[in-house]
Amino acid sequence: MLIIFDLDDTLIDTTGSITPLKLEQALAKMMEAGLEVGDPEKALETLKRLDGATESASQTLLEFLEIVGADQKYFEIGHQEVYGPLALDTPVFPLEGALEVLEDLRSQYLLALVSMGKPEQQLLKLKNAGIDSTIFSKIIISEDRDKKPHYKTILEELGFSPLQTLVCGDRVKRDLSPAKELGCKTVHMQWGRGLISGSSEPPVDVDFRIRKLSQMKEILGDKQ
Ligand SMILES: [Mg+2]
Repeated sequence: MLIIFDLDDTLIDTTGSITPLKLEQALAKMMEAGLEVGDPEKALETLKRLDGATESASQTLLEFLEIVGADQKYFEIGHQEVYGPLALDTPVFPLEGALEVLEDLRSQYLLALVSMGKPEQQLLKLKNAGIDSTIFSKIIISEDRDKKPHYKTILEELGFSPLQTLVCGDRVKRDLSPAKELGCKTVHMQWGRGLISGSSEPPVDVDFRIRKLSQMKEILGDKQ
């Protein structure tokens, strides 16, 4: 069996460790450019609170600027900061049990990673989270929003049928629906934005839901 993982908010705690830092930096940049927010600490609190209920940091910034009644020109500045390069020493935390679960799974299954973003950034996140990239037989990092062709490539290259493949990610539409369309089994990691993603959608594209990576073993155990 082949297991394909997403990275952000599936193996690493992006929402908890990277996004708050990025939002803080974005706020500072927007203020430098002239954005008036009153009390900066309160503004940061508002940003973080909003981020707990949006589908993306981009949406967080838009809602924030609307609340403070600011010009949309600040959005570009904030967006550039949030999605800009990570500092080399940015602390990145793996999700609970990620390292152990991956180590454990690799002894029985083939593992792969499909992640959206810039390759050097995503690899830096992996490294800083302490995840050994060699545990994955195949890694595809692309800025392309459609993961389906990448899933297909991996299945073909590693010689697995969709029925022998499990895809685990936090975003139903982005990570799981394309996998389901190919006929793979899907696991919804309900973490970070994954807590919001899929909540209003029909669960047809999700075969399993987990809150901890250690539950992967239960799923795989059930299937054998
Ligand atoms: Mg993700």
